[in-house]
Amino acid sequence: MRVEFQFYATLRDAVDEKTSVREFEAGTTIAEALRALTDDYEKLHSLLFRSNGDLRSHVTVSLNGEPLMDDRDDVTLSDGDTLILSPGVAGGMADSTSDPGLDFELGIISLGNRAFEGNNNSYLLGLEADAETTLVDTGVAVEETERQLRAGLDRYDLEFADIDRIFLTHHHADHTGLAGDIQAESGCEVFVHVDDAPVVEQRPEAMDASEDRLRRAIDEWGMPEDKQEELLSFLDGTAGIDGDPPEVTTFEGGETFDLGSVELEAVHMPGHAAGLAGFAFDGRDGEEVFSGDALLPYYTPNVGGADTRVEGALAKYLDTLSNVVERGYTRAWPGHRGPIIDPPGRAADIIVHHRERTERVLSVLEKGPATPWEVSAELFGSLSYIHILHGPGEAFAHLEHLAEADIVRRDGHAFELISEDPNLDVLFPDISTALDPANQPNR
Ligand SMILES: [Zn+2]
Repeated sequence: MRVEFQFYATLRDAVDEKTSVREFEAGTTIAEALRALTDDYEKLHSLLFRSNGDLRSHVTVSLNGEPLMDDRDDVTLSDGDTLILSPGVAGGMADSTSDPGLDFELGIISLGNRAFEGNNNSYLLGLEADAETTLVDTGVAVEETERQLRAGLDRYDLEFADIDRIFLTHHHADHTGLAGDIQAESGCEVFVHVDDAPVVEQRPEAMDASEDRLRRAIDEWGMPEDKQEELLSFLDGTAGIDGDPPEVTTFEGGETFDLGSVELEAVHMPGHAAGLAGFAFDGRDGEEVFSGDALLPYYTPNVGGADTRVEGALAKYLDTLSNVVERGYTRAWPGHRGPIIDPPGRAADIIVHHRERTERVLSVLEKGPATPWEVSAELFGSLSYIHILHGPGEAFAHLEHLAEADIVRRDGHAFELISEDPNLDVLFPDISTALDPANQPNR
């Protein structure tokens, strides 16, 4: 069987090629395939494997566009698979168990999430006497996660009833699900950006509108009927994980909140969601931020499918990333996984990643007009679960971005390449000057 490897960043430098195609016997696992690959590329070996032979945890491995999380080594490959290898985190990742070195106490409660892949972080602040006991994000509303959150709080002798404030980074259920339950027990105030408030409160008109918009979007993207049905029934199956809605207090970005032990500044970071917000504070060596899903290690947050309300999702997200570089945060605490110790470097990597993805979209259109669904199939292969939504959504966000610069034109459900010599410079921010720490005010 035939497997294609694609390399990014330092891994690409090590092999000096963008791609490599290999033949394997049926039943080969990812770990076996990567080991065979490093027999040919000596320099790659130490980048992918630790001295004990384990695959390095910070290396991102995506199979047909889907990032693989735990147990990835034993995944069996099939003919035609594409494995994407990237080093993941610019500047590495801090050890989340080490002392964060902050002036205030920070609790990190890791919550399981069976509805989507991966774990969620709920951050606990205001642990000092007289401070406002505060959570940033809460995890999905399923029993197992609720038990984990209660147990996490219990380590600090706290229960739901003790929480004074909740800050939500955005409306997705894996961040907001338990907020309503906690509010019911504590009467706490729940803060969320004004753009995500109607969805977090599950107002009927907002829920109807988002259902309509989703159905319209997947149709416009050219998604086949059977895939539309598969997606809608997957989404039906996750009903309930957003929990009972809390009543919320809104902010727009720029406001500060004094918790007694630390002051948080709300920062609007749209793209992945319309109302995505980070919360910045004075940290160990400069300004740090709770970044929600705006900045993640290992994988890039979905843009275009994760919130179909966002118009010009990629343009907005690129602005958000430029802003991360300009502010020069010295550390970011994401909604999933451990802290990011070089947020500007990570933001720069994600910008490069999107530019490369746009180039791949263009190379698909060079063969002729295509719908977002068709472009997605070329980029990500066949999709299941939530990725049925995220793949074409992401393709659409890139096509929409290209249309903005008159490089492509929309014709019905398809997009057609109309520029003979596309110049992507106008579509991607030049952050080279801002990346210089000397130009970053908050270091
Ligand atoms: Zn999210």
